[in-house]
Amino acid sequence: MTTTAHIPFNKPFMTGRELWYIAQAHTNGHLSGDGAFTKRCHGWLEQKAGSRRALLTHSCTAALEMAALLADLREGDEVIMPSYTFVSTANAFALRGAVPVFVDIRPDTLNIDETKIEATITPRTRMIVPVHYAGVACEMDTIMDIARRHNLLVVEDAAQGIMSTYKGRALGSIGHMGAYSFHETKNIIAGEGGALLVNDPVYAERAEIIREKGTNRSQFFRGQVDKYTWVDIGSSYLPGEVIAAFLWAQMEEADSITTRRLALWHQYDELLAPLEERGLLRRPRVPADCVHNAHMYYILLDSLEQRTRVIASLKQQGISSVFHYVPLHSAPAGLRHARAHGELPHTDGLSERLLRLPLWVGLEEHLPRVVTALKEAL
Ligand SMILES: *Cc1c(COP(=O)(O)O)cnc(C)c1O
Repeated sequence: MTTTAHIPFNKPFMTGRELWYIAQAHTNGHLSGDGAFTKRCHGWLEQKAGSRRALLTHSCTAALEMAALLADLREGDEVIMPSYTFVSTANAFALRGAVPVFVDIRPDTLNIDETKIEATITPRTRMIVPVHYAGVACEMDTIMDIARRHNLLVVEDAAQGIMSTYKGRALGSIGHMGAYSFHETKNIIAGEGGALLVNDPVYAERAEIIREKGTNRSQFFRGQVDKYTWVDIGSSYLPGEVIAAFLWAQMEEADSITTRRLALWHQYDELLAPLEERGLLRRPRVPADCVHNAHMYYILLDSLEQRTRVIASLKQQGISSVFHYVPLHSAPAGLRHARAHGELPHTDGLSERLLRLPLWVGLEEHLPRVVTALKEAL
């Protein structure tokens, strides 16, 4: 029976305490944002990531939008980022009238090629947005050095990067700001959810204000001001306590979730090593300075045609495998709102050949079947 069961690409993992904490939030009678569960989540993030200030948001997209507001981006400002990323990386800044400028990716990690950033800088450049693909860090020392020398901000899109480190530092905590996602396809989930890490204290106070509709509500509740009012532009970026309660159950289990995902990742990596030796595929590369979180197991195939055949063949065996981003520089909105810096050969080539395999807590007993089916497909 299990040999014919469908294997989905993703299956959200529940720790078992989510509903219990949601019931507690219900009993507490505080359902809007910034209650007891939100504070626990903030504390956990600040401690885990070593960040000055963590703020829960509705999504990573919302956290990136907050970063764009905090940076005071203006019409025509340029933001350097990879084209091989999710739409929100670019959208959050394009919403402010800024222009995403795309740089090619490295063929090993599929992260932004740090050696190509400097040539892209113009007098309008304000920011660099490294995206830690698959939870594997970008070359942050080089990126931070470029940013310092050119007086640029660095906002890490660490949507996939919770529990990963670069030279011992948590992803999301290295740039001036960082953004996490708790979308159900990520490692630690809340359905929809995210967080902004404010690492440079210069932005901490204004981040609270922007997140609370442009009011100084947080200062008021801390007794720092005697009335609360409209003090800046802003929006409503904070989730309610029901989301935070769910997320807290996940954060409590973040270590065990990561351990189990890593075990699956390494199982794939060992079982697929002989296929790489025979030149049938390429496995992910993780630089020595990076500890990753097993967000994703992907393989690189020979061509788009081969990938299409493999996806169909796995599907016939009841296994869902998926490709990933359509590069933003070739997407309709990318053509209108952004520009590529020269040719992006690795972005174009690798995005057509990348295939993501199922990876979720609970896959353990099914994983060998995925590998067998993949071998047959190849
Ligand atoms: C998932 C993801 C996002 C968006 O996260 P949401 O929480 O869904 O807004 C942004 N960037 C990257 C790289 C992602 O993987």
